[in-house]
Amino acid sequence: MLRTVFLRTFPRVYRVSACRSLTIPAPNSQPDVHYNKIFINNEWHDAVSKKTFPTINPATGEVICHVAEGDKVDVDKAVEAAKNAFKLGSPWRRMDASQRGLLLNRLADCIERDSAYLAELETLDNGKPYAISYSVDVPMVVKCFRYFAGWADKWHGMTIPVDGDYFCYTRHEPVGVCGQIIPWNFPLLMQAWKLGPALATGNTVVMKPAEQTPLTALYVANLIQEVGFPAGVVNIVPGMGPTAGAAIASHMDVDKVAFTGSTDVGQLIQQASANSNLKKVTLELGGKSPNIILSDADMENAVEQSHLGLFFNQGQCCCAGSRTFVQESVYKEFMERSVEKAKKRVVGDPFDLKTEHGPQVDDKQFQKILGYIGSGKREGAKLMCGGGAAADRGYFIQPTIFGDVQDNMTIAREEIFGPVMQILKFKSLEEVIERANDSKYGLAAAVFTKDLDKANYISSGLRAGTVWVNCYNVFATQAPFGGYKASGIGRELGQYVLDNYTEVKTVITKVPQKNS
Ligand code: NAD
Ligand code: MG
Repeated sequence: MLRTVFLRTFPRVYRVSACRSLTIPAPNSQPDVHYNKIFINNEWHDAVSKKTFPTINPATGEVICHVAEGDKVDVDKAVEAAKNAFKLGSPWRRMDASQRGLLLNRLADCIERDSAYLAELETLDNGKPYAISYSVDVPMVVKCFRYFAGWADKWHGMTIPVDGDYFCYTRHEPVGVCGQIIPWNFPLLMQAWKLGPALATGNTVVMKPAEQTPLTALYVANLIQEVGFPAGVVNIVPGMGPTAGAAIASHMDVDKVAFTGSTDVGQLIQQASANSNLKKVTLELGGKSPNIILSDADMENAVEQSHLGLFFNQGQCCCAGSRTFVQESVYKEFMERSVEKAKKRVVGDPFDLKTEHGPQVDDKQFQKILGYIGSGKREGAKLMCGGGAAADRGYFIQPTIFGDVQDNMTIAREEIFGPVMQILKFKSLEEVIERANDSKYGLAAAVFTKDLDKANYISSGLRAGTVWVNCYNVFATQAPFGGYKASGIGRELGQYVLDNYTEVKTVITKVPQKNS
């Protein structure tokens, strides 16, 4: 049976024309799990310790299956495989750059072919609504691999007119073995953001998916093998952060580590690099992004986009607009309309195509968010809607809005990573820029106004890696993403990410001035 869901329900945030409709196949809410082991050298392995860990369906709290739990010895095996695959003269090192691009395109083809299954597995393991997994996550994954496929044979060096009788050119060479540690909020997409640029530029990879959501990464490993990447180019080791993750970060034979997750762990990763081999580190960390609504904004658009800017993906977005600053004269109207919208948000079974909002990823996040809601109440913020669990099983939380939030409250300073919106009042533009920048984070920001001068003034004053104007959560594979300050180091996506996966070699050759 086929059901048509109009993307009007899930507007522009998905980068799909709002009036286009997409046919979403009715999902199977119990997809089979085919892969639950460690992927090394294009083969499936148990953990050396034989240990496994359960992965949970967050909509029910039930165990989906057990997955091999990699640890240091398994990481050592995976790094050895990645190192061998990177050896001079290996099939991967000798492969034409255009062929690497072709393999990435074939991987995108396979993901497209299996998109319904992948979306089912993603929803089962992570809890995000299937309509979103199918119409947003998986298509963005496909686009990401295709984009980086295109770069494979186009990321080249320069010839440089140095002084003297010399010919100077640069080569862009792969860094080597890349450790990649990814989070659970967009499991497939984070895998694609990491693998795409690493493979396009000719590196080899040891990846650790998040322990909450390992299943889709392992299915993609099988596709990587199917399309013909040589053994050892991609190795995937599911496991825990402090064991398998830490082993990657401190490994002497890992040349670079790319991490997405919490700022606390980001600091550990950089320390591990400093204390081991000074591997290159890129970090995509947390945020407490300001979203600024000026009094002249198109109110309907501002309310709609701010709602998605916070509640999308159950609030589990590093760039969530979780400090919503609203100018005094429109504060009341914005608040009323936002509360009305939050109350209408459809929370429930993620496999139901009408559902907009599923459960949080696990009990730890569920408890943490409820703790923040408690602190908001205690510290004097005004609870306008929500504030509690939304079901008697699974990790569902009601879309929650706090008003009268003050800058020093815990909910205005710390990343909540859940469906909790903070609304703060401001008077002048100078004031709001200063308050917006008063955070250790600097990942993203937005401003809503019809006045171009005000938009430009604010967007140039904000210290954030991405500023959206009259929109939110607009992601494009072509545009870089990353953070100022404690929100990270380096950029992902776009041409900018390629620098992080390449070493530049300068070659200088003496040119004889006469034929001897
Ligand atoms: P986390 O940072 O602990 O986990 C992210 C990844 O890092 C996982 O794969 C995890 O196994 C791994 N990891 C954990 N400890 C590690 C270590 N010592 N060495 C190496 N790798 C390690 O995040 P979490 O506990 O799952 O979530 C906690 C908070 O992190 C959230 O509430 C949210 O604020 C933030 N977070 C941010 C993002 C993001 O996109 N920036 C994603 C997930 C979580
Ligand atoms: Mg899970």
